[in-house]
Amino acid sequence: MSVFSWYHASIKQKIGGLFVFLLAFMFCVIVFSAYKVNQIEREMRVVAFLDIPLSQLMQQVEFIELEQHLQFEQFQLKKQMGDKPLNPHQQFTFEKQQIKKLLDKAVALISHSLASKEVVLQAEAHQKVANKIENYAKKSNEFENYLSNIYAREQLTELERQRVEEMATELEHAQRKIILQLNKLTADDAYYTDEHEKDFLFVSTLLGLCAIILGLLLTSYIIQIILRRIQRIQSNIETLSTSFEHHELPLELQNGIKTKDELAALEHDIKIVISRLNQEMTSREEIEKQLIILATQDRLTGVFNRHKWEEQIENQINMASRSEYQFALIILDIDHFKQVNDQFGHQIGDRLLKHLATQLQQQIRTEDMIFRIGGEEFAIISPTQDKQQAHQLAEQLRVYINELDEVSLPKVTASFGVTCYQTDDSSSVIFNRADKALYEAKAQGRNCIVVA
Ligand code: GH3
Ligand code: MG
Ligand code: MG
Repeated sequence: MSVFSWYHASIKQKIGGLFVFLLAFMFCVIVFSAYKVNQIEREMRVVAFLDIPLSQLMQQVEFIELEQHLQFEQFQLKKQMGDKPLNPHQQFTFEKQQIKKLLDKAVALISHSLASKEVVLQAEAHQKVANKIENYAKKSNEFENYLSNIYAREQLTELERQRVEEMATELEHAQRKIILQLNKLTADDAYYTDEHEKDFLFVSTLLGLCAIILGLLLTSYIIQIILRRIQRIQSNIETLSTSFEHHELPLELQNGIKTKDELAALEHDIKIVISRLNQEMTSREEIEKQLIILATQDRLTGVFNRHKWEEQIENQINMASRSEYQFALIILDIDHFKQVNDQFGHQIGDRLLKHLATQLQQQIRTEDMIFRIGGEEFAIISPTQDKQQAHQLAEQLRVYINELDEVSLPKVTASFGVTCYQTDDSSSVIFNRADKALYEAKAQGRNCIVVA
């Protein structure tokens, strides 16, 4: 994941990415530690399984050589004192074999360790020691051969004695040197191992500290990102919430939240905004409803207004022209309404209009629609009615108005023009036909119905 794509990733992916990075780093630290521990362990093994056993072997060799030397001295002494000379051949051969075995073992030990690459430190120095031991083995062999030759003699010349002494001293020196070198190797190996241990501890501590610092940085970075986002969301919420501050909040939200948890505070703020949004939506819906009512309802009577009438008559014509759908149109006009106003006043006229409209609305079916299309003139659209049914409805309404007796209101009658949809009718054609019928009803003396 590149830094760019990481920046735009989800929070889950971001945190996941950072943790993978941290884990990879920790993995490297662990691998490095394991490698170092293994290396140190190998170095310790060289000290334990090569350096120390080698020193021990060489000390055994030294011990046997010393024994040989003593035997030789004893042999000489006894001879000089005229005692019966001992026969040290058997013992000597045995010791010779012992030394050879020990030296071979030492050389084999070094060669094996070098071949199997177990010697991590000072391989060259170890090889040198092996060569020296081999040389020493040769010299020791020469010395022993010399000794075995002179054992057989009755008397030794001074020269031979000196030669034996020289060879013995030489061997001793070579042996000392090897042992000293081995001791130095052991000390050096131990020193290097110790140094490596210190380095390892230092680097491991450093890497561990880096991992901790990296972890802390990543954690604080994640926290910062989340906090910054929360702050941005909160400021957006505040801007949003000031735009509808006039609304009352539910009680549970009015009580401020007492917490330091930013997410809980954010949740609380979002709840406030949602609650306000809900209120806003509700009031907007109400406003919309009221606007629709204002746009479609007649203010005085509460029935549909002229605007709605124009829209609906067009709809009905469209439906009827495109299908089998049928509808009837009834226009009614209150008789001598001018006289009501003149006699009882305009206010009573208004109340009468309102009362009549309400009553007519209750008389028609739910699928019928009533409109106030003029001062005291109403239209009724009645779906799927034939002429007879339309006449029946008009008659029912005429009788109802005629018999209506409201104490505080004057009695009135109404005249009706009725027609049904005919093929190719337009809104004005059907309206004019109904209006003409109404005119005829007026002419016939009012309080009656004319069907066109
Ligand atoms: P006709 O039987 O021929 O219909 O007689 P009319 O008096 O009802 O008819 P005309 O058209 O001469 O008069 C209608 C009257 O209705 C005139 C007007 O004062 C009255 N009018 C119209 N709109 C309103 C209204 O909103 N309120 C009141 N109070 N009167 C209205
Ligand atoms: Mg009129
Ligand atoms: Mg009238």
